[in-house]
Amino acid sequence: MLNIVIFGAPGSGKGTQSEKIVEKYGINHISTGDVLRAEIKNGTELGKTAKGYIDQGQLIPDSLMVDILAAKFDSFENSKGVIFDGFPRTIPQAEALKQMLKERGQEVSVMLDLEVPEDELMDRLIKRGQMSGRADDNEETIKKRLVVYHSQTSPLIDWYKQDGKYQHINGLGELDRIFADICAAIDKVK
Ligand code: AMP
Repeated sequence: MLNIVIFGAPGSGKGTQSEKIVEKYGINHISTGDVLRAEIKNGTELGKTAKGYIDQGQLIPDSLMVDILAAKFDSFENSKGVIFDGFPRTIPQAEALKQMLKERGQEVSVMLDLEVPEDELMDRLIKRGQMSGRADDNEETIKKRLVVYHSQTSPLIDWYKQDGKYQHINGLGELDRIFADICAAIDKVK
């Protein structure tokens, strides 16, 4: 299986590039943000819990996220691989992902770090909020999400470097150039 972690700050293009990767490589997509938004829409207990955190720009507790992720992963049949979009976001989540894959005879093939400068992230997220109406894409919550990214999520860069899975991708510029760089990184580990 081809198991890809697509990584980056909010607004770095993880969702957009994931769609292109899914189309080209025929793998399954897990966006933990999308899973949570669907739960909120359906008014489930999980959705109610998640909404409180999401609206504050905070992360959902690791124990909850790890269970959600494993259930989604196990729902795929005859999968050629999975792209993990928005997970892991903390070191305990990365450790749990490694363990979960190991128990299934799998491992992360590559971690792609989409790097985009902070002012550009802010611009993109404000524009996205105007188009999509995503409740957490407003200036105040975006700022909180970026703080959370720097404090809790960015330490994963060194974690994946140490794990030998890290690939840097310049996430600024033409969509197709970024995608070409991503494909080159994936094809090296395929
Ligand atoms: P995203 O769509 O990936 O930007 O996620 C939107 C929000 O969902 C985040 O700001 C978090 O509140 C929550 N979320 C998504 N994925 C995770 C995760 N792996 N761990 C904790 N919270 C998450």
